[in-house]
Amino acid sequence: VFQRKFNLTVTGTFTQETRNIMKAARCGFPDVIPQEYSVYHKKWAKKALTYTIESYTTQISQDQQRSEFKRAFDEWARHTQLSFTEVSGTADLKINFYKKAHGDGSDFDDKNGVLAHAFYPTDGRIHFDDDEEWGVNASSKKDLYGVMLHEIGHSLGIKHSDISNAVMFPMYSGYIKDLRLHADDVAAIQESY
Ligand SMILES: [Zn+2]
Ligand SMILES: [Zn+2]
Repeated sequence: VFQRKFNLTVTGTFTQETRNIMKAARCGFPDVIPQEYSVYHKKWAKKALTYTIESYTTQISQDQQRSEFKRAFDEWARHTQLSFTEVSGTADLKINFYKKAHGDGSDFDDKNGVLAHAFYPTDGRIHFDDDEEWGVNASSKKDLYGVMLHEIGHSLGIKHSDISNAVMFPMYSGYIKDLRLHADDVAAIQESY
């Protein structure tokens, strides 16, 4: 898998070329090899997915959170045959806000740093760091829609992209008005679904 990812000859044994790349990848610069989107090996086996908001932040009204999340799901649905329906109770995708340690081994880190994380299919957990200042269309705050758009990608099985304008780029780029999926994100989702 490692060799195929970088388009090296798959020989079953390590070539010198492979060794050089592994050395680079291990010294703290995993993105040193140019690489566009990549898709995780797991995906949802169905097209009609459900989601539920199990906990909200108190910083924004619940109606606004619900509509920002819906807007993000709609953007992914626009490019696929996937559908996302909000339900109460058991759902495929489960949204929560947490602070610091919250029982999944990936503690949040107070303000800034990590903003959110999500698990690959078919786990469905999407977590937001409630120590961030969350906002809706507010450049002074962390954009709930923009971060949700990114996290949904992971929960559908898409990894990070090296394309800096892609939604799946790992660094938060601040509030962008009317943010849409990039062609790179669309290529990733259309390869999977
Ligand atoms: Zn978590
Ligand atoms: Zn990410």
